[in-house]
Amino acid sequence: MEEFRISEQGMSYRPGKLLCIGRNYAKHAKELGNEVPESPMVFLKPSSALIPSGAHIVIPKMSNDVHHEVELVCLIGKKGKDIPVEVAMDYIAGYAVGLDMTARDIQNQAKAKSHPWSVAKGFDTFAPLGPFVSSQSVNDVADLTIELRINGELRQSGNTQDMIFSVAELVSWCSSIFTLEPGDLLYTGTPEGVGPVAPGDVLVATIAGIPELTVGVKNA
Ligand code: MG
Repeated sequence: MEEFRISEQGMSYRPGKLLCIGRNYAKHAKELGNEVPESPMVFLKPSSALIPSGAHIVIPKMSNDVHHEVELVCLIGKKGKDIPVEVAMDYIAGYAVGLDMTARDIQNQAKAKSHPWSVAKGFDTFAPLGPFVSSQSVNDVADLTIELRINGELRQSGNTQDMIFSVAELVSWCSSIFTLEPGDLLYTGTPEGVGPVAPGDVLVATIAGIPELTVGVKNA
C-alpha cells in the first residue's frame, strides 16, 4: 500500500512500521494456551504485508494453517518518544479495522524452538487493512464491538473493553521502546475465536463506526 488517507481531514500518511500486540484479550490468550501477560507483548510486521480492502490474502506454500485475527488498528499521527499514558491518545490520527494474519503452524514451530514470529506473521498480504476514519470521529475507543465473518458466518466477536492493556497504555508502552512516527500502525490484539481461512473464503471485518474491511483468500 502506497499511503493511507483520512478522508475527513484530507491527510495522507506513508506506511511506517507495524507494531502488533499479542495476547491483549484474556480469552484469546487462553484459547491458544498462553499466560495473560504482565506487560504488553509486542512484535513487528513488515509494511510489505499490507493489503487494502478488496484485495486477496495469499496462503503461502510454506503453511497449511493460516489464521485470521481481527484487530482495531491505530494510525500514529505525530512523532513521539516516551509518551505519557495521559497524552497518548493525542498521538493517534485515525482508526481502521485490520487483520493480523498468522501462519499458526509456523508460529507453533517457532514457539517450540524459541524462534521469533517474523516468518509466521510477515508474509506478503498478511496485514489486510481497511479505510481509516479520524480519531475524533470515534466516540469511545474502549467500547467498540469488533467482529469477523467468513462467508457470512460470525467467527469472532468481541469488544475493545475487554483489552488487557488500553490503547493509551499500548501507545505509551510502544513509545518507551520505539520512536513512534507518523504512518506507524498499531495492531492492538485480537479477541477470541481465531481460526483457519481457506481459498475462496470472503472475510468481512467490522468495527462499529469504522469502514469495513473485505478480503478474499487464494493460494500462492
Ligand atoms: Mg494478533
